[in-house]
Amino acid sequence: MTQLNNEQFEIWASKYESSSKLPESKVPCSVTDCETLTTMFGSNLHERVAKFGNIRNLLTEFKCKNCRSRAKAEAILAKLNK
Ligand SMILES: [Zn+2]
Repeated sequence: MTQLNNEQFEIWASKYESSSKLPESKVPCSVTDCETLTTMFGSNLHERVAKFGNIRNLLTEFKCKNCRSRAKAEAILAKLNK
């Protein structure tokens, strides 16, 4: 499994909204073609949900560690290349 499709997204979001749990403890990265899954459950999951505002934002926008450092590097390079 890579990214959640619309149907899975709805299942995951409504499961979290009704039970504060996800169907699986590993959340896929939102970057297209990235196959990294990040383990999230319990307080770790809830803290991330709080950080993103809600579960739907988290599932839509969450990036794995590698994608986050790559995005950071690209932002710095873009600034340097101006
Ligand atoms: Zn990723």
